[in-house]
Amino acid sequence: VGKDGVRGKSLPITTRSLNKAYGAFVALKDIDLDIKSGEFMTLLGPSGSGKTTLLMVLAGFVRPDSGSVKFGDEEVIAKAPHERGIGMMFQNYALFPHMSVFANIAYPLKIRKWPKAKIATAVDEVLATVQLTGYQSRRISQLSGGQKQRVALARAIVFKPQILLMDEPLSALDKNLRETMQVELRAMHERLGLTTVLVTHDQREALTMSDRVAVLRNGEIAQIDSPAALYNAPRTAFIAEFIGESSLLSVSLRDGACFYRDQPIDVADNTGGASGLLILRPEKLEFDNAQRRRPDRNYFFGSLERVLFQGESSLAFVRLAGGELVTVRRHLNEANHEDFPAVGSPIVLSLHKNESRVVRDDR
Ligand code: ATP
Repeated sequence: VGKDGVRGKSLPITTRSLNKAYGAFVALKDIDLDIKSGEFMTLLGPSGSGKTTLLMVLAGFVRPDSGSVKFGDEEVIAKAPHERGIGMMFQNYALFPHMSVFANIAYPLKIRKWPKAKIATAVDEVLATVQLTGYQSRRISQLSGGQKQRVALARAIVFKPQILLMDEPLSALDKNLRETMQVELRAMHERLGLTTVLVTHDQREALTMSDRVAVLRNGEIAQIDSPAALYNAPRTAFIAEFIGESSLLSVSLRDGACFYRDQPIDVADNTGGASGLLILRPEKLEFDNAQRRRPDRNYFFGSLERVLFQGESSLAFVRLAGGELVTVRRHLNEANHEDFPAVGSPIVLSLHKNESRVVRDDR
């Protein structure tokens, strides 16, 4: 029991060769996942990529066609959801609106036939954890969206689960509340140390909250890495486009050198093979001038097509001589909106060689 009194024993999750098909449609293909004890793992991917199916397999609501799911050393594939010791939290909370906060949180304990006194203590403790002390007798219908979310979390963790599974728990909230709850959930995770698996299609949410992110595509794990590694070193064009913004330039490899059209490019990393794509992140491109040439940078030439003012930063769209449209982000303290050259002006862009990465075109 940790300082909140709610800390359970958290378990690692291991899956091996998980496969699931719906008729001819393959929803999960050979999924091997190693989630560490206490880790916050996010399953991210486009609609239909298999995130929810994978989470439901972990929860026990979907039976895979083959493969193994272990919590710690224990194979759980044959176990029903309620026998797996997991807490679950969903998008629509599934709270009972006309019942009190207490009754909602006590529900999973009643099902488990806990004695009354023990239930009262556990509910008190978990209410303190989610910062809702004093709300016991409120009805759910009298709570704000963020408070409902915290009740749903309290109910998911009140029986001291060893694993917490969440499916788009914040997607019903408006943007500001969603961002507040992301911070709260992350802080809660750090206090409780529960092995947590979150499903989201929101890449920003995944980057904000997770220790690691598994990006799913067509039922397979396309890349699994820390948020920073996914952003800074995407392994394929799909990941580069899915995580953050990027413009991609076709490059070719000749005699061991990399070329964009006929211009040699110095690259830090090339996993693209003979013809790959150079990733240009909008915030890593700089406006340069025609006179200055720094040896540690690659240069691109074009003309300014459009500038969008976005508050703390502006987006500039530059049409390269080769025809590609490249997006550049400038922060106001670096380049005031008014400082942009006139639309149509010639532009020189530069990118540091260490930031010049070529990846495989798997789009
Ligand atoms: P979303 O973000 O849209 O929820 P997801 O990544 O969570 O997508 P899943 O819900 O896991 O995707 O679904 C993966 C694929 O499997 C989808 O194409 C879906 O239509 C299909 N699928 C899911 N459940 C069933 C089912 N019971 N019967 C048939 N097909 C299903």
